[in-house]
Amino acid sequence: MSFDTLGLSADILRAVSEQGYHEPTPVQRKAIPVVLEGKDILAGAQTGTGKTAGFALPLLQRLSANPVNNGHDGRRPIRALVLTPTRELAAQVGNSVQTYGRHLSLQFAVVFGGVKINPQIAKLRRGVDILVATPGRLLDHANQKTLDLSHVEILVLDEADRMLDMGFIHDIRKIMAMLPGKETRQTLLFSATFSSEIKQLANRLLNHPELIEVARHNMTAETIEQRVHPVDKNRKRELLSHMIGAHNWRQVLVFTRTKHGANRLAQQLEKDGLTTTAIHGNKSQGARTRALADFKNGKVRVLVATDIAARGLDIDQLPHVVNFELPNIPEDYVHRIGRTGRAGNEGEAVSLVCVDELKLLRDIERLLKRELPKEVIEGYEPDPGIKAEPIRNGRNGKSHSQSRNQSRSQNPGRSSTKRSADAPRKSRSNRSEEKQTQAKPAHRHVKSGKPQAKRSPHPGRVQEIPALLGGGFRDE
Ligand code: AMP
Repeated sequence: MSFDTLGLSADILRAVSEQGYHEPTPVQRKAIPVVLEGKDILAGAQTGTGKTAGFALPLLQRLSANPVNNGHDGRRPIRALVLTPTRELAAQVGNSVQTYGRHLSLQFAVVFGGVKINPQIAKLRRGVDILVATPGRLLDHANQKTLDLSHVEILVLDEADRMLDMGFIHDIRKIMAMLPGKETRQTLLFSATFSSEIKQLANRLLNHPELIEVARHNMTAETIEQRVHPVDKNRKRELLSHMIGAHNWRQVLVFTRTKHGANRLAQQLEKDGLTTTAIHGNKSQGARTRALADFKNGKVRVLVATDIAARGLDIDQLPHVVNFELPNIPEDYVHRIGRTGRAGNEGEAVSLVCVDELKLLRDIERLLKRELPKEVIEGYEPDPGIKAEPIRNGRNGKSHSQSRNQSRSQNPGRSSTKRSADAPRKSRSNRSEEKQTQAKPAHRHVKSGKPQAKRSPHPGRVQEIPALLGGGFRDE
């Protein structure tokens, strides 16, 4: 099937073909005609499926097909608003809008925190048709009356599940109050996962939506080869360096649970001779942008990231994602590994799992509805004598629960944090990131009675798991 059959205009088709896209991805095939009809959609699209073009192409088409006159203030009214959870994703969506709309005369702006607000105000003043924004900075603008959302015709909530995870629900409610009602606007909601909170949000915001699903919920792209390497916690860094070197991986995205952990690992890998940089919420926006650019252009080989900072990273044909530590929330595993295997490219997602993380691994496998293949690397066999300990996060050593619900109930502030409108936005991502890592310990015990596997004479070689795993890796 080609793009020509979807009802897109010649100018948009030209931009698509200049991008080198030959045929629409499944989410594009399903979403584009429905959005062109003006209907609301609730789309369960995994990251990396081409969902951005799935909403951006028909959005551009609808706006360009119905040009409107300038408003009473002589400016173009904002007709489409795209909300994203992170700055990186906002920038990414902005790039897509620019690319796909290059032959149209629509104006767009991207606004997010961590950078100066004045250039954004100047841009908004000149008038934009499409605004891509993170919720916090959008509210800053709204409070300063530097924008008017009362003419929005199309609202897109991108990665809505992550917005809720990051505690943006109150901001979203405030923003909704500034928009035309759901009967008069078109709303497109994209989410990789469908929790009950997402369903509630969808009920509130969407008007008889068409449900679009391109893969089973919470399933990872089939093009991603996933593997678990059981290894002791204190040998993970060594194993990671070994794997990068032995396989000559040129571009590896590595996930840690905490910002401190990301910094520490980046330093250690540098000492191992691997060019590495870290990206997380404590870094300035400039540092984050630079880190990403250096990683994309091959200046650095390893990018160590926390979950929130990595959200929205779109790196063409990223071949390797490593979970240095498993995420506390199983859905984050899906998001993390979705950074590879994008748009049909092959990718590899490797998880280094120590005995403390077995419960997290089980939660992930439950979500995926399958067991992940496990391979012990020769020379890095886990010591069956090591007992599981509660997972600690951050320098303060707070330990952690492993389920989203636990985390929510134990940390009720998580999704109800109020921030005064003039609070420094810089701390928002930091706080959101911290919020994800505050919960109580998981009380788990792991049996470990079997004899320790012998150190291999051939470190680095992959072995089948049952022979070497021993009792230490079996959770109760
Ligand atoms: P997304 O899921 O929107 O983040 O897109 C993931 C990646 O797929 C991006 O790098 C897009 O440029 C790319 N992409 C989107 N649509 C297509 C297509 N129809 N053919 C090939 N690549 C695409």
